[in-house]
Amino acid sequence: MQTENFHSQMMAGENTTKQPLVFIGHGDPMNALRDNAFTKSLNVLGKDLIALEKPKAILCVSAHWLTRGTYINNAEKPPTIHDFGGFPQELFDVQYPAAGSPDYAGKTKELVKDSELTTDWGLDHGAWTVLKHVFPLADIPVYQMSIDYYRSMSYHFELAKQLSALREKGVLIVGSGNVVHNLQLSFQKMMEGDSKAYDWAIEFDQWVKDRIWDCNWTELANYEKQSGGKLSVPTPDHYAPLMYVMGLAGNQEPIQSIYESVEFGGISMRTFKIG
Ligand code: ZN
Repeated sequence: MQTENFHSQMMAGENTTKQPLVFIGHGDPMNALRDNAFTKSLNVLGKDLIALEKPKAILCVSAHWLTRGTYINNAEKPPTIHDFGGFPQELFDVQYPAAGSPDYAGKTKELVKDSELTTDWGLDHGAWTVLKHVFPLADIPVYQMSIDYYRSMSYHFELAKQLSALREKGVLIVGSGNVVHNLQLSFQKMMEGDSKAYDWAIEFDQWVKDRIWDCNWTELANYEKQSGGKLSVPTPDHYAPLMYVMGLAGNQEPIQSIYESVEFGGISMRTFKIG
């Protein structure tokens, strides 16, 4: 019943523009401190999003919140989580002081049947290192939804559809991961002083792009069958956020590339907007 009420409230309308969807390839946490072509592209993206209609809240599905079951963070003031080691103090000093949104988190829980609310999280680096560049003022509430690490890509794709009503309610949904994410082989290249991208990484990144632009989304869930798929996605964490964006995208929505590059050998920074 609660879900139905929420739907009918939205049907009543608030003259809110349907919010776009964004997938951000977040890469290395140090991007939070950088001023480069990638971070500049995020800055332009943020200005474009606000020009369309400033989101009322941001729901981020990050590669760095992996759980058994699906959780939605409803903290009023989500802490900036520095969920990494071996980086300079300057990075640990960064705060992204956006408010949370217990209200939208509650509404999201109504929409996602199999989910739980929790205050036991904040904003992990998949969220804040990039949102810092998209919305530097941190004046839009942000809340995260976790990824059930024990579920298939198809499960995430289908779960995402349950979030659809949030877009009309003014919520910007952001998937933060990386289409290609092989840290081990990227680190190996770095040690060798070689920054050239692996051929399999470039090919797989392009394959994903083609599937997104052709709206051929179901093939994306079966990436393992594709050449370079297993090397590009050795673990599902950074690829799963893509499923949330794809599950929500409509066939006729415009797609805009925001940034594309394969860095450190095997990390794709592909970032795009739908709608
Ligand atoms: Zn990451």
